Amino acid sequence: MTSESSKDSRSATGMTGALVLVATPIGNLGDMSQRAVDALKEAEIICCEDTRHSGKLLSHFGVAGKKLMVINEHTEYDAREEIVGLVASGKSVALITDAGTPGISDPGERLVVAVVNAGLQVSAIPGPSALIMALVISGLPTSRFVFEGFLPRSGADRTERLAMTATESRTIVLYEAPHRLIKTLSDLTTACGAMRRVVLARELTKLHEQIWRGTLQDANMLVAATEPRGEYVIIIEPAKPPAPPTDAELVAAIKAEIAKGVSRKDSAARVSARFGVAKRTVYELALQLRDDTESST
Ligand code: SAM
Repeated sequence: MTSESSKDSRSATGMTGALVLVATPIGNLGDMSQRAVDALKEAEIICCEDTRHSGKLLSHFGVAGKKLMVINEHTEYDAREEIVGLVASGKSVALITDAGTPGISDPGERLVVAVVNAGLQVSAIPGPSALIMALVISGLPTSRFVFEGFLPRSGADRTERLAMTATESRTIVLYEAPHRLIKTLSDLTTACGAMRRVVLARELTKLHEQIWRGTLQDANMLVAATEPRGEYVIIIEPAKPPAPPTDAELVAAIKAEIAKGVSRKDSAARVSARFGVAKRTVYELALQLRDDTESST
């Protein structure tokens, strides 16, 4: 493995014949790191989603004379094979996307899989990502979170992912396009309930950066009042754990089992498994039930 110090003394990445994922700003050019610029200057080929968009970034940072290759949803399949071939032939290939860290909700994800599966090297120059910035400023728990990317646009896949969101016990981070924000917030409200807390992180690091915190109900009103524009990350608080069953509910469940002819002991075991309550607790309630029945006869 290459040590940190030897990487630093040689180059930004210290490697040829590799795919290097280079994070670029999500809005503010001041967030471009020196290592990112160095890696792009060292690369023989730079892959990007859009040559016009990335061309501006490259010329701003004085990266010139590079062969640019396009990898986006239209070219992805063919470009992927070609890029794997270039890395295999010893070229140093950098990947940048329109914004942020390549590989997060963009074609970088499948390119990395192809390069790794070909037994070739992948490295990265870490940097901005809307996902992490939105999460850390949300004020919601960060110790456990789940990134859902863009929800499927329709169909059973969308319904299923919304249902999973409703019961998710970790903070949930979603990306969404502005023209689909109203529909997605409305669907999230149906799935998670109007009072679930949500944070909308808009235009991060840009001039009109806004962080809005409230309930899903209020978020719906907010987006209905002003047409959503710009880029958004949605962060949703985890689902609250269901309230533990009361003794009365457990007793009713035990009685229902006993009425079916199930023994007291097995009834307690069944109820304990169903409600996730300790067997001993349920069994004691079952015994109490017998004592009550005996003392009333
Ligand atoms: N690879 C990128 C990253 O690391 O964040 C994400 C690419 S994904 C195609 C684009 C989505 O990221 C946008 O639709 C939006 O949800 C989110 N996004 C990107 N830049 C953002 C910003 N400045 N503010 C808020 N969300 C942003």
